[in-house]
Amino acid sequence: MPSPLSVSNLSVHYRLQDEPALSGIDFEAKQSSLIAVIGPNGAGKSTFLKAAMGLIPCTGEVKFFGEKLDSQRNKIAYMPQRSSVDWDFPISALDVAAMGLYGQIGFMRRVKKEHKDKALSYLEQVGMADYAGRQIGQLSGGQQQRVFLARTLAQNAELYLMDEPLSGVDMASEKIIIDILIALKKQGKTILVVHHDLQSVGSFFDEALLLNRTKISEGPIKTVLSAGNLARAYKMPVIADVA
Ligand code: ADP
Ligand code: MG
Repeated sequence: MPSPLSVSNLSVHYRLQDEPALSGIDFEAKQSSLIAVIGPNGAGKSTFLKAAMGLIPCTGEVKFFGEKLDSQRNKIAYMPQRSSVDWDFPISALDVAAMGLYGQIGFMRRVKKEHKDKALSYLEQVGMADYAGRQIGQLSGGQQQRVFLARTLAQNAELYLMDEPLSGVDMASEKIIIDILIALKKQGKTILVVHHDLQSVGSFFDEALLLNRTKISEGPIKTVLSAGNLARAYKMPVIADVA
């Protein structure tokens, strides 16, 4: 079975920037695993997901399930970083969840009752059914993230790429989101999650990809989080390598 996501020699150089944001990244996602993408601010974590999704220009090769992106889009769901979303857009929680069904409905086709019911069932999964009619701008940060997770789940994908779904959420939302990530893994899905909290990364992720403009390390959490790797990624002096 080809990997859900394999990347070779991936580089991104944004216009007008002196240095590339990412250089020569090789990576292979293990099927049915929960993978944390970690690294300091500006390391290129969001860039990595966006480049893989073809949202920004890059060089190198990206394959999904052994194929090019275009033939595999219906197997992939991408959840952008919170800060990149316009939360003032006048749209209800139910409408946002229904957007995840567009692949099945067809863009701009009428959303029928059955689609609304389906969208509502995804809101239920994230504990947001009671807020279906609420404008997204009127929800808390954690609730907004849950609604976006509902949209992502509605895509019923095999591979999920999520950019900081746990950032800035309250504890109740955090628990709901983590439980869903674990449930997806148990269903055999592969999930890449940009995660900022190194303290909690070992408690539910299996694997990690540590970036800082280049790949610092990839593999089981314990291996990746060695003092040496963290020092290289976060540019801190190594005191003792305990791993
Ligand atoms: P992370 O998600 O790890 O915090 P990003 O992938 O967002 O990092 O950014 C990596 C680097 O690329 C940063 O230095 C950032 O300023 C730069 N960058 C990100 N997006 C753009 C853009 N659209 N144009 C120019 N530079 C960008
Ligand atoms: Mg980011």
